[in-house]
Amino acid sequence: MINTINHNDLAVRYPVMEHFYTLQGEGAYAGYAAYFIRLGGCDVGCVWCDVKESWDANAHPQLAVEELLHHMLASKTNRVVITGGEPCMYDLHALCNVLRAHGLHIHLETSGAHEIKGQFDWVTLSPKKFKAPIASAYAKADELKIIIFNKHDFEWAKEHQALVKTTTALYLQTEWEKRDSNYTLIIDFIKANPAWHLSIQTHKYLNIP
Ligand code: SF4
Repeated sequence: MINTINHNDLAVRYPVMEHFYTLQGEGAYAGYAAYFIRLGGCDVGCVWCDVKESWDANAHPQLAVEELLHHMLASKTNRVVITGGEPCMYDLHALCNVLRAHGLHIHLETSGAHEIKGQFDWVTLSPKKFKAPIASAYAKADELKIIIFNKHDFEWAKEHQALVKTTTALYLQTEWEKRDSNYTLIIDFIKANPAWHLSIQTHKYLNIP
């Protein structure tokens, strides 16, 4: 059943770097079909960022929620992932309201550096050292995903574990370029700390776009 839609929400525009139908590659929903919306704009500045072309919001077209909705409804999934860039640089209420009215499950991937504005079914918090999460982001995290770059990051992971809910799913994922050396460290850590789980970027191994 479709709930009432506010037509003002349909006209709201966001800078969209890309949008595509694929499989979620990592984390708790790895392997699930999902429609991805990658918003442009990021002020976090991770040195190892693999989507630096997303940083400049002005480099990407402003697409209306209505247009995005048509693409999503044309796919067979009822799951949407809003990622970036840093999507929480924007008020996402309009986008969420429309998607929710069409019965779509809305996932968010964020660094937590900005207030989360919108209603989501699943929030993946992936803190970055370059711009710390704000306090309210921890309480909203359904999934905490820590990227392991070096050994110190395991302590950093534990510090963040202490800040999220006890029900938050805990994932460790290697920084891609360090994967050969880091997987052994991550596996050893998880065996000693079984509350944590391994997240693998399956889309990169399988060349799924
Ligand atoms: S938060 Fe994400 S998009 Fe922004 S710089 Fe870091 S890895 Fe890149």
